[in-house]
Amino acid sequence: MEPAVEAHGLGKRYGRNWALRDCALEVPSGRIAALVGPNGAGKTTLLHLVVGLSRPDAGEARVFGRAPRDMLAEIGFVAQDTPLYRDFTAAELVTMGGKLNRRRWDTALARERLAMLGIPPDQPVGKLSGGQRAQVALALALAKRPRLLLLDEPIASLDPLARREFMQTLMGAVAESETTVLLSSHLLADLERSCDYLIVLQRSRVQLTGAVDELLETHRTLVGPRAGS
Ligand code: ATP
Repeated sequence: MEPAVEAHGLGKRYGRNWALRDCALEVPSGRIAALVGPNGAGKTTLLHLVVGLSRPDAGEARVFGRAPRDMLAEIGFVAQDTPLYRDFTAAELVTMGGKLNRRRWDTALARERLAMLGIPPDQPVGKLSGGQRAQVALALALAKRPRLLLLDEPIASLDPLARREFMQTLMGAVAESETTVLLSSHLLADLERSCDYLIVLQRSRVQLTGAVDELLETHRTLVGPRAGS
């Protein structure tokens, strides 16, 4: 099957510094892939290139075989600390999203997801917890029924319980759709049970990429003991 994301020789430079250099990777379709690396490794830079928010200075990124700018309607993106309109309720945000994304938007699905999570539909989202706001941002991104969903550090500011709940929602949503997910994080421990594909970025370069199980076995000494073992 055609990969959801491919990059060849992909690079981005700010002034004389390469934020991302000679990046080659492939995210297989239908996976939840984690883009892991320390702060400043180039994760946001890579996601922005895949979404089409910035132009590469070298190489190219393809989304389902096409240029990102030709796939905008089919890519969902949740930026780091996505600002939600805090004075609006979750129900209002779902309705507003429907007006902006008429063709693919699934209002019923978004409402159902938020109800299942116990998110109060009539409270301004500014009054919700960080974990609940992250869930609202995710439900809105999924309502667009994206073929590819990119999430930039979605769990970084959440407590451990909210992180687990977020990843469970994401896994459930992906299981019942055909969405491929690429999410960035500087934490591997929370992800190795929920992601099945891994890309490790360090100092602007891809250091490792492959199926999680295979990589964790082969590089046990590099990534340390498996969580819970
Ligand atoms: P973080 O988790 O801290 O956001 P990251 O892995 O997402 O880290 P990037 O934000 O992609 O890393 O940054 C990679 C490098 O590029 C860093 O050295 C950063 O300072 C630099 N950088 C990113 N955006 C810009 C910009 N607009 N102008 C100049 N330098 C930038």
